Amino acid sequence: MSDKRDYYEVLGVARDASEDDVKKAFRKLALKYHPDRNPGDKEAEAKFKEAAAAYEVLSDAQKRAQYDQFGHRAFEQGGYAGQRFTNVEDIFSAFGDIFGGGMFGDLFGRSRGGPRAGRDLKVVLDLTLEEIDSGVEKTLSLKRQEHCAPCKGSGAKPGTSRTTCTTCGGRGQVMRSQGLFAISTPCPRCAGAGQMVESPCTSCRGTGFETKKADVKISIPPGIEEGVRLRITGEGDAGDPAAPRGDLYCSIREVQHKIFQRSGADLITEIPVSFAQVALGDSVEVPTLRGRAEMAIPAGTPTGKVFRLRGQGLPVLEGRGRGDQLVRVFVEVPKKLNDKQRELLKQFAEIEKKSAGDKSFFDRIVAYFN
Ligand SMILES: [Zn+2]
Ligand SMILES: [Zn+2]
Repeated sequence: MSDKRDYYEVLGVARDASEDDVKKAFRKLALKYHPDRNPGDKEAEAKFKEAAAAYEVLSDAQKRAQYDQFGHRAFEQGGYAGQRFTNVEDIFSAFGDIFGGGMFGDLFGRSRGGPRAGRDLKVVLDLTLEEIDSGVEKTLSLKRQEHCAPCKGSGAKPGTSRTTCTTCGGRGQVMRSQGLFAISTPCPRCAGAGQMVESPCTSCRGTGFETKKADVKISIPPGIEEGVRLRITGEGDAGDPAAPRGDLYCSIREVQHKIFQRSGADLITEIPVSFAQVALGDSVEVPTLRGRAEMAIPAGTPTGKVFRLRGQGLPVLEGRGRGDQLVRVFVEVPKKLNDKQRELLKQFAEIEKKSAGDKSFFDRIVAYFN
């Protein structure tokens, strides 16, 4: 009889759980009990291994069927269940692929040693509204790590090559016994790389890398928004020769425009008009992002009124059509008047006073607000 816990119970799934549920359950437990997150915690490590053993069986249709029929006995003769995983490292190499990138990739990647991927790089790209309007091709000039040319990234003097680390036999990890389990840690001699450079390349002093300037072309679609982060795959730093390059992330920043303010796909402008223009009505020319447009101001337009010029805004990102331009008119009071203007305004004021009758200025204000 086995004293092992039921595998379904270990993963906390029902007996008819789907493959996907099994995977999800294991991923969750592995995250929780991962040795990197629970350093020195024996119980967590035991749980981690128990979950891995359960996952190994339940994720395989054939083994699962055997287990369903015979329970733990199904594997006791074969003697592999639970015994295959004498250390955490083996679990990573067996199941690392289900974790993919992201947090798990980082978590497992670090503890595994071996070739390291290049780092991701970040740049900020300033765009004017005109560039956002039309879409634009830009060249990003950056400095990044490349493989050293003379040694092609190996770090070893040309004509020589890297040698396998004799301490860890190329695994990048060494085993330490801790109670019942063997714990693997990065090899102290090769720092987890698995390989050593005996005669270093003089050009890069054995690092295998050199910093180089690079121009990366990028195509910006029309209508892009501030804060959007574009990912340019494989344009980051070079990694170890056998590992992938990092990615380049480009964040979009909008340059403040002198005339326009952006609100999504709409553009907002304010234009000054005279009292006479709003009182009598007029037709004015308004600047647009692509030129100018005629706009009618009806007689009696109040200051602060917003007019909408349809289709004069920015293109909608990955959509159809354009936003609008919103034009707010405000009445500008002249700072200086010539004699004729002053005379005419005085006459205007006289007429206003008469038409107001006996009402005082104060009464008129009260009437206005009522
Ligand atoms: Zn080593
Ligand atoms: Zn070199």
